[in-house]
Amino acid sequence: MLISYGNYNGAGGISREEACSIVYSMAIDELLSKASVLRDSIKGKVVTYSRKVFIPLTYLCRDRCSYCTYRKEPSDVDDIMLKPEHVLTLAEQGKRMGCTEALFMTGERPEQRYNEARQWLRSRGYSSTIEYIADMSRLVLDRVGLLPHTNAGNLTLDEVKMLKEYNASIGLMLENVSPRLMDNGMAHEHAPSKHPMLRLKTMENAGRAGVAFTTGLLIGIGESMEEVIDSLFAIRDIHERYRHIQEIIIQNFNPKPNTPMAYWSKPSREYMLKVVALTRLIMPDMNIQVPPNLNPNFDEFLGSGINDWGGISPLTIDHINPEAPWPSIESVKRRTEAKGFRLRARFPVYPEYIRDEYLASRVMEAINGMRDEYGLVRGY
Ligand code: SF4
Repeated sequence: MLISYGNYNGAGGISREEACSIVYSMAIDELLSKASVLRDSIKGKVVTYSRKVFIPLTYLCRDRCSYCTYRKEPSDVDDIMLKPEHVLTLAEQGKRMGCTEALFMTGERPEQRYNEARQWLRSRGYSSTIEYIADMSRLVLDRVGLLPHTNAGNLTLDEVKMLKEYNASIGLMLENVSPRLMDNGMAHEHAPSKHPMLRLKTMENAGRAGVAFTTGLLIGIGESMEEVIDSLFAIRDIHERYRHIQEIIIQNFNPKPNTPMAYWSKPSREYMLKVVALTRLIMPDMNIQVPPNLNPNFDEFLGSGINDWGGISPLTIDHINPEAPWPSIESVKRRTEAKGFRLRARFPVYPEYIRDEYLASRVMEAINGMRDEYGLVRGY
């Protein structure tokens, strides 16, 4: 099957005015059909996923998002940070199960809030959580051969460069570009790191450092449709400057017990489908992902323009959404094929970014040992 991968060049996407008009005036069936036709013409009939092992390096976080159950207090965890031997054990188990991605996850700069985190890092010779991630990325890449992808909150330019040495790609959800969500009673009231200007700055730092970057929107956290559209255009603007945004995740908010947003509603199915389709029309050539574990009827998103299911782990749970188990890769494959698509495994870095300017030589070497002629994972 021919795979058509090109670089989005900013051409062909609809304008903000068109997006606003379409979202309120176009029948949903027509919108979904347009997005699907566009996806088919640019991406073909291949839908990808990444076989990953999820490595929660620390649950500590200096922030408090109103929907989060990931973050924990030092008194609630056995280890302040996951020790290197545990990191290696997880990575080796993942490798044996055919994973190619090691997803490193942390809260935002826990050392800025907790003495325990500062001391833990200092006693091992690290001045920050990011330094520790870079070292664990080295360990996993060199000793196990998994490709690290780091999701650790905001990053300075120097930190992005440090991670690039051992990471195939980096991720950070923009969530939404509206600072209104920082207001009293809103999702990010107690999460200064979620200020959109800081998130956009991190994305810019990745662009300057030449790192393939995954971002996305969190849908249903109190935003308006106009703010969703603004967010997509903010991502498009930055991508037009640096050409490094490899993927946009459209993730639905799932309320969790014992959080300030426990009684908020989930975003509706129609709202999610519309946002996905609009994303395709705004950025025709973008890789667009919806997480299958958060959407029981995930295969219906194939009819709204997606071309990726994101990371799916055969080993570890989704630590951000522990209530939502991954569907098995076999069932994702079956349901994807039933809609007329072919499922293939990709690396954390998409094929179009497997180029010297985006990858350190040791990362490129590891990929070359596992890739096929399309830049996808050989044998999967
Ligand atoms: S969502 Fe991330 S930044 Fe927000 S509290 Fe949870 S771990 Fe911290």
